[in-house]
Amino acid sequence: MEDLFSDPRRWRDVDKLLSRPGNIVGQDFEPSPTLREDIGDIVRVLVVGAGGLGCELLKDLALSGFKNIDVIDMDTIEVSNLDRQFLFRIQDVGKSKAEVAAERVMKRINGVNITSRFCRIEDKDLSFFNDFNIIVLGLDSIEARSYINSIACGFLEYDEDDKPLLVTIKPIVDGGTEETPITAAHCIELCTSDQMARGPSWKLFDADDPEHMQWVYSEALKTAELFGITGVTYSLAQGVVKNLIPAIASTNAIVSAACALETLKIVSGCSKMLSNYLTYNGLDGTHIKVTDFVRDTDCLFCGAGTLIELDTSTTLSQLLVSKASVTYRGKNLYMQSPPILEEMTRANLQLRMFDLMDKVPRDTSFLRKLRVVFKWVTDEASSRAHKLSRL
Ligand SMILES: [Zn+2]
Repeated sequence: MEDLFSDPRRWRDVDKLLSRPGNIVGQDFEPSPTLREDIGDIVRVLVVGAGGLGCELLKDLALSGFKNIDVIDMDTIEVSNLDRQFLFRIQDVGKSKAEVAAERVMKRINGVNITSRFCRIEDKDLSFFNDFNIIVLGLDSIEARSYINSIACGFLEYDEDDKPLLVTIKPIVDGGTEETPITAAHCIELCTSDQMARGPSWKLFDADDPEHMQWVYSEALKTAELFGITGVTYSLAQGVVKNLIPAIASTNAIVSAACALETLKIVSGCSKMLSNYLTYNGLDGTHIKVTDFVRDTDCLFCGAGTLIELDTSTTLSQLLVSKASVTYRGKNLYMQSPPILEEMTRANLQLRMFDLMDKVPRDTSFLRKLRVVFKWVTDEASSRAHKLSRL
């Protein structure tokens, strides 16, 4: 096989981006003919998910010059994945998605090193995530996204103005796709690939079992009705289930390409970053829209929180009962000083929070993250971070 990494023609387009100055490059961008190789050698990328989007991402990142990639996925390959998760073959069914995907990309693109992790993201500790310069998500669940987001935000440290220190920011590039059925066959296919997740508790789907087929048929009918599609019949369902039709893989390819390009832009600064949310809709023609979401400075995950100063002797119970003054919707729940206010609010310490908060079942505005500094103790790590961020 031809060594794609050593053929200079292979990198012509990426090198144009990385070796030339320009008007829309990032602030710290330093173009260089060796920048691609430097990025390949230095940057470590974590790809979370090796499914439809993950397969595309691994290929795109490897072809963008990234050489040190890890991929994590707990799933094994199923027959219904084969129509769009293009790195997998029929003989791979039952094997780990992460392992097979890594192996296939490394076989095709010499010089790239992909380490596969066949496990849950929750099985990895913080130091595992800290080793990566950037995290790219190819996930289909909100829970997994929130989990990775909270981990990445956990690395944040802040300066005196509560702004996150640049060196502590762990960038995440998050892609997601959703398929909308456009034909009767598509409705059937979507229901077939979903049946393990939300169907009856069958161990293995059997297209020759009338009960299984009847379920797929009635689910496909419901989906078709939802999207105003006609033509779903029992015999069409049988035909589709037995010969999987090709899925529309282009959505994953487009979203993955955008994510890989953003990843390259973030690590190199070779162009202005997308700011910060792109939607692509390929249903009626092509529609692309960029929305600039504003960060909530009070966000429980990435916000700086409230800084409090403690004596080194403060115990947890002292922190909880005497070191904090608490207000809720302008009402003083507990004030540690002046003494007159402390006395007036002291009785509240025995009252239930539920009553103090006017029996509001859920009020996130009341939650505030606390940051702690200790009096008279200098912080080596944070002064180092300050120095680094000024470089
Ligand atoms: Zn946030």
